[in-house]
Amino acid sequence: MRRIAEQKTVKSIIVAGGAGFLGSHLCDALLARGHRVLCIDNFLTGSFANVAPLCNHPRFSLLERDICEPLAVDGRYDEVYNLACPASPPSYQADPVHTMMTNVSGTANLLALAERSKARFLQASTSEVYGDPEVHPQVETYCGHVSCTGPRACYDEGKRAAEALCFDYQRMKRIDTRVARIFNTYGPRMQPDDGRVISNLVVQALTGRKLTVYGKGDQTRSFCYVSDLVRGLIALMEVAENPEVPVNLGNPRECSIAEIAELVRSMTARRVEIVNAPLPVDDPKRRRPDIARARSLLRWAPEVPLEEGLRRTIDWFEQTVADGTERRPA
Ligand code: NAD
Ligand code: UDP
Repeated sequence: MRRIAEQKTVKSIIVAGGAGFLGSHLCDALLARGHRVLCIDNFLTGSFANVAPLCNHPRFSLLERDICEPLAVDGRYDEVYNLACPASPPSYQADPVHTMMTNVSGTANLLALAERSKARFLQASTSEVYGDPEVHPQVETYCGHVSCTGPRACYDEGKRAAEALCFDYQRMKRIDTRVARIFNTYGPRMQPDDGRVISNLVVQALTGRKLTVYGKGDQTRSFCYVSDLVRGLIALMEVAENPEVPVNLGNPRECSIAEIAELVRSMTARRVEIVNAPLPVDDPKRRRPDIARARSLLRWAPEVPLEEGLRRTIDWFEQTVADGTERRPA
């Protein structure tokens, strides 16, 4: 009897984008909970090093595939997490049409796959759906202030379209879909050259280069450590009652980018200059999540303070980038 009960809790789960920064940590967490995981990734911005340690795991498999292509996979799945999409502005703007198609066709393909399996579906959406927000902090009922013509639109509008697809599937009772609006998240396994602010600043400091602050540095972001975020994604997927509304996941501690640069400089103890560089077009001025919904529906809140998360991130980059050694999975 006990064996049967144990077997029932082992789920088969697809993680699209599972070789990326967040996706690989999610694969680790799901395997640690005893589930079977199929990672689907085209390695556009992900890295084989992120999942290499899992490749001999008996409950892990890897499928190299672009989600924009129609997807047929063997077997039945209980859950599908869709994290497949480049997340850093330089990466998603490098091929904006592909970014848009990843969010629209790719999400539609994964939703169809989930429907065939009657799987529960979680979409990794983003705080970018709020654009350059006029409401602060950002609450889920705010519809956003997004440019549909600027260079960030392929991502922001793509993610908004993906949310619309998920809520249509939900309303039509085709499958159970959940939408997480993820705010800036950082930690080990960010690509050192992917252009996001934490990885840029840490790598610049560790390699003795000038720290680049875009604009005056008075724009704000709220940074969530990766383990907190992954715990939030799993909580949203597993909560018994479908919230039927998007849920913000992020850390409400808000910092200016100038403050973050100072903090990274002092925590890395490097005598490097902080310089200003041009502010990218449409760069949002302020961002902080209202997480009341996640607190009440999921009993979730972040636990890792910024200084501790940064310490772990700096240590990881120190061992992988600055020493010039092989990338070490965290
Ligand atoms: P990432 O770039 O490290 O990971 C994305 C993964 O998706 C990579 O492994 C990439 O190779 C894969 N991918 C991209 N396009 C694909 C396609 N067409 N087919 C198959 N695989 C594809 O980014 P991340 O930070 O891990 O972000 C993961 C998800 O979370 C993304 O959907 C992103 O939009 C969302 N998100 C992340 C953050 C953050 O701060 N990290 C914030 C908001 C939302
Ligand atoms: N940024 C910066 N220096 C960098 C990289 C980014 O000042 O080397 C700024 C960027 O302009 C933005 C903030 O840091 O205001 C966060 O940028 P990121 O690309 O990490 O995330 P997003 O803009 O998508 O929130």
